[in-house]
Amino acid sequence: MPEKIAFIGLGIMGQPMAGNLLKAGHEVFAFDVKDSLVEQAVANGAFRANSPGDAASRADMAITMLPETFIVEEVILGEGGVLSGLRPGGIVADMSTTSIIATRKIAAKVAEAGRVMLDAPVSGGDVGAKDGSLSIMVGGPAEAFEKALPVFQRMGRNITHVGDSGSGQIAKGCNQVVVALTIEAVAEALVFAKKSGADPAKIRQAMLGGFAQSRVLELHGRRMLERNFTPGGKVHLHKKDIDIVLEVAKEVGAYMPGSAMIYQIWNSLAALGGLNWDHSAVVKAIEMLSNVEL
Ligand code: NAD
Repeated sequence: MPEKIAFIGLGIMGQPMAGNLLKAGHEVFAFDVKDSLVEQAVANGAFRANSPGDAASRADMAITMLPETFIVEEVILGEGGVLSGLRPGGIVADMSTTSIIATRKIAAKVAEAGRVMLDAPVSGGDVGAKDGSLSIMVGGPAEAFEKALPVFQRMGRNITHVGDSGSGQIAKGCNQVVVALTIEAVAEALVFAKKSGADPAKIRQAMLGGFAQSRVLELHGRRMLERNFTPGGKVHLHKKDIDIVLEVAKEVGAYMPGSAMIYQIWNSLAALGGLNWDHSAVVKAIEMLSNVEL
């Protein structure tokens, strides 16, 4: 099993994921552009790295958990990047949610250089990252997946090798469509309840025992009722995920009316200054258009 792990990107998700690797006894070489986050990782037992390449050169395997596709590309392929430090045959697992098309291109360049890239995006949010219960959806060579599996098991529970490079990101895109539209459905139902004169908190409680039960109803429904829009999953990241899906949908000709609609709702939240709100803030847009607050 890879024992020494380079971990790059120590934000809402990366910090607790790296923490779970440390708790399991791995040596972690931590890097983030925000030094305070590296400090936090070091306080938890990680070693400070000075660049992605430095981290990778001291590790058996590298993990990236970064916000955007172009940053992943730069961190893996750029000067002083992961590829410059990773040993021949080494594995880099990108656990961020990134463009399916770009992932395949980055993986091809990593393969040309004699290393292996897995796309291994996650679902389960900051709660799943903290308690090590993430779902991890993996694309890339099966042999590399088998090697990386024990490391993924430190951070997640439901770990699936979906297929070739890019397949993990396709799975994540599917996941994000379901999560986005479920958040929207929960927001719509709770606003409808309020507008109709019922108590939305009671309605949520009632639904939790029935067929509408879901983690989104439980967690995001609670956030909506508590007006807790501190992220969690940020609006701009989920908007990015749906953008990734719609980019491919256009190319392959998939009909995705719900995804197109939720993208417009994310746009309205952007216009309200809410790009860094939790994605459960969708309820704010629905509330405004219904002229009511939960
Ligand atoms: P975040 O913004 O909290 O963390 C990203 C981190 O990357 C930040 O600490 C930032 O400083 C760092 N970073 C940016 N550029 C860098 C660079 N060049 N080198 C090193 N570090 C750099 O985001 P997050 O919520 O942790 O999400 C990370 C990824 O996981 C995203 O792709 C997101 O879509 C995905 N994701 C998030 C959630 C969630 O609920 N937050 C759930 C599943 C997946």
